[in-house]
Amino acid sequence: MSSQKIVFLGPPGSGKGTQAQRLAAELGIPAISTGEMLRTAVEDGSELGRRVQGVMERGELVSDELMAEVVRDRLARPDAEHGFLLDGYPRTAPQADTLDGILKERSGDLDHVIYLEVPAAELVDRMLSRGRTDDTEEAVRERLRVYRSATEPLVERYRVSGVLREIDGDRSIEQVEESILAAVSVS
Ligand code: AMP
Repeated sequence: MSSQKIVFLGPPGSGKGTQAQRLAAELGIPAISTGEMLRTAVEDGSELGRRVQGVMERGELVSDELMAEVVRDRLARPDAEHGFLLDGYPRTAPQADTLDGILKERSGDLDHVIYLEVPAAELVDRMLSRGRTDDTEEAVRERLRVYRSATEPLVERYRVSGVLREIDGDRSIEQVEESILAAVSVS
């Protein structure tokens, strides 16, 4: 049982989802993927799903305000009380501010921000080969552009606050997992 609060950061196609699932299972904390939550909402045809569908298909970002609601509600659920792993949030500076605010209310800081680094050329190949419905080539390129301009600056922010753990994501799933486990182990 772990009470760690962890964020996964990295470009689309870096393996965040896969590694987040594995680490969360290992630590016994929920893996909260905002992309997965939104895709489920779209499939269910819920009000949230109808609001985000077009934005997602274009590879753009859902508004910070709407994401704040989604994440606030999710982190308030009992399973996230003693720790959680966020995959795909925060993605912008205002989202990181929102998360800081939520954490302050709960009186606990982030323990680790796992930053998965993968060469740009590899990312497009990986995304196009996973066959997700929002992975058209156009959307994939837009998501990379959005990542560079809106999300990548968060790397420096978390480096400065001392929680950034840089992981070489350009290796086998098992090797990457091993490095992540070493980075979060409370020794
Ligand atoms: P992902 O599965 O993390 O690649 O997310 C898929 C899509 O969901 C993204 O391209 C965005 O359109 C949307 N999305 C997921 N998380 C966020 C977020 N934190 N902020 C804005 N949009 C998001």
